[in-house]
Amino acid sequence: MSTKATKKVFFNKKRQDSQETKEESKESNQKKSRNSRKSTTSIETEPSQMDGKKENIHLTSFSENLFRFDKEKYMETFILEDKTSKYHCICDICNKEKFYAQYAIQHIKSKKHRDNTEKNKGKRALIKLDKLLDSINEAKGSLYQDDKKTRGQIEEEETKKYLEFIAFALSQRLSFLQIAKLGSFLREMLTRKDGIGLNFFKYQSFDRDFISNLASECFRPFLLDNLKQKLTENKFSFSIDSSTVAGENLCAVKVKFLDQDYDNNTGQRTTKICNQVIGVKKLGQSSNAQTFADIIKEKILFNNNMEIKKNIIGLTTDRAQTLLGDQAGLITLLRKDFDQQIFHLPDPCHSLSLVIKHSLGMLPEEIRTFISDINNYFASPQRKEKLKAIQKEGGYSILMPIRYVKTR
Ligand SMILES: [Zn+2]
Repeated sequence: MSTKATKKVFFNKKRQDSQETKEESKESNQKKSRNSRKSTTSIETEPSQMDGKKENIHLTSFSENLFRFDKEKYMETFILEDKTSKYHCICDICNKEKFYAQYAIQHIKSKKHRDNTEKNKGKRALIKLDKLLDSINEAKGSLYQDDKKTRGQIEEEETKKYLEFIAFALSQRLSFLQIAKLGSFLREMLTRKDGIGLNFFKYQSFDRDFISNLASECFRPFLLDNLKQKLTENKFSFSIDSSTVAGENLCAVKVKFLDQDYDNNTGQRTTKICNQVIGVKKLGQSSNAQTFADIIKEKILFNNNMEIKKNIIGLTTDRAQTLLGDQAGLITLLRKDFDQQIFHLPDPCHSLSLVIKHSLGMLPEEIRTFISDINNYFASPQRKEKLKAIQKEGGYSILMPIRYVKTR
């Protein structure tokens, strides 16, 4: 039994219904691949190589149940129990070949077994084999119908399945780009030459909590190490801000640096701006400049890593008093603590918002009310449409009021 053949089988394996249909599924895929359809691999698979070994699946042990289709009691004369493993059985006709018990039916349907039957037991044995196969097919009736699907029918069903996948992804509000990337990634996994294909879907957990643990316990330390390395090698800036999310006061820190992107296909290197959240911290009742300085020390400097510290070139914040205060603001604290010059960029949106707020304050009260009223008037989409129509009618270029909000 070549493992290579087993791998081929998995590439073509698409249907993953239930335990019961596993055999039929393989069988139909076998057919698909024999037809050498436009499938991603189009690898020919000899039926004789179908009795595959497979890892990490739910195994069925050898039992009477295996012979439930065997009316003539023929099968049990050559499919024998394997004394060394309850999950395996042996085919006496095929020179005592050993395979998983759950693939016994598949095995006797294979070309190899047929050839061996003829070779070792003579042509008359073939009649018995055909009878056995008939009773199996009869018993499995509707399931076996699958195998008789025409190429057109199969393609139609594949199209349906493809649309189902796309529809599901859209219903989960994934963007077109995300769906495209997910699709290509799954296809690449399916055709990878490791022989596993997408089999992991069957036995791995897709439980939400499990994935969350996986992310925080396996990926997070790795990603953080990576990021730490980047910050040791590159100059970088960061931003810090707090916000109330679901009743909790959270502070987030983000770092920004230039990194090289390597394209595997073209071999080209490009420089890109990396923007990564490095940490989120819960804030207590009150937070002052020192609280923020401590967060920076913990999250960005990994508790005062000097190599990272010397790479900081700037930060951006909003204009909160704890951050900007001359005497005890965060910026003042940081500047005392750092040897190098640190550039501070107060959030430009916030600054502009302040400019407008103060400028408006210069206007007479009636004008401010007028601006506010106009803004409210055009909040209605119908009125906006009307304004558009009037401008269009008059042959003017279409201008619409900018939305005016009290806060930035
Ligand atoms: Zn056999």
